[in-house]
Amino acid sequence: MMRRGQRLLLLLGLLASGVQAGDYPIQPQQIAPGSWAVIADTGYFTPANGGFLVNSAFIATGDGVVVIGSGPSRAFGEQYRRVIQATAGQPVRELLITHKHPDHFLGNQAFADVAILADARTTAMLQSEADGLAENLYRLVGDRMQGTEPRLPDTLLQPGMHPVGQRQLEFIAAPGHTQSDIAVFDHSSGVLYAIDQVFNGRTPTMPNADIASWLQSLDRLEALPFKLLVPGHGPVARDAGPIRATRRYLQWLDATLRAAANRGLTSNEVMQLPLPAEFASWAEARDEWRRSVGFLYGRYEQAALGALDTP
Ligand SMILES: [Zn+2]
Repeated sequence: MMRRGQRLLLLLGLLASGVQAGDYPIQPQQIAPGSWAVIADTGYFTPANGGFLVNSAFIATGDGVVVIGSGPSRAFGEQYRRVIQATAGQPVRELLITHKHPDHFLGNQAFADVAILADARTTAMLQSEADGLAENLYRLVGDRMQGTEPRLPDTLLQPGMHPVGQRQLEFIAAPGHTQSDIAVFDHSSGVLYAIDQVFNGRTPTMPNADIASWLQSLDRLEALPFKLLVPGHGPVARDAGPIRATRRYLQWLDATLRAAANRGLTSNEVMQLPLPAEFASWAEARDEWRRSVGFLYGRYEQAALGALDTP
């Protein structure tokens, strides 16, 4: 237990840094003129991190701020909005939801007065799944979710050019991490926001993944003339390294699950398989591998059985 003196020092430290008890450590990092990324912890959902595990970003366009992702909770969204206003010095104009995962949209309540954009497929999925996704996060994160309710996107996002103020933004359909994912390429700054199509030093999450279409999307993103890459998880990069690493992981995962199914391994046996050194060093490597086997292995077993049935 903390001694009184230590508690007092901690409290003074928090006051000095302007952090209030319960606040999320939101520290925008300027990545280009008028462009900021907020880089999150790379762990898994816990009460301690309050579900703040995913990167988000915001862009001052000269005609209001475009925000990419609202975070995991109402409290996060409210704090994030204050940080954006203070950092960018312009009011928020619109919020983009890149895909349906709950830690990207459960801060939407704090942006209820601006347009909340998502593509047609993600919007449709959120209409039926948002409550369940939110419940899941309540179960994992607890208290800091208080007062959080899913608020659905209200404006249709169309892939293609999206000029705003002085910015030429492009929305790019890049599915595979989920059934529908949108990347944002800012032609004006050269920044590519690939949230969650690209992971950097953190094991990709697979609950809704389609590996074949994810790989195609990575090829499309790598072909863009970007100068800076903001991944969904992990630090900002200056080259395509994280795109290639995400691709290598997906290819390894696909080949490993297929070979295991052909050998007739049980999912428990697959979960015990060794991870290559490159991927074993990533955050959440072993736990995420186990979860991925749980999500995906049944399909590979089915395919292996189907191949046996074919005369
Ligand atoms: Zn995601």
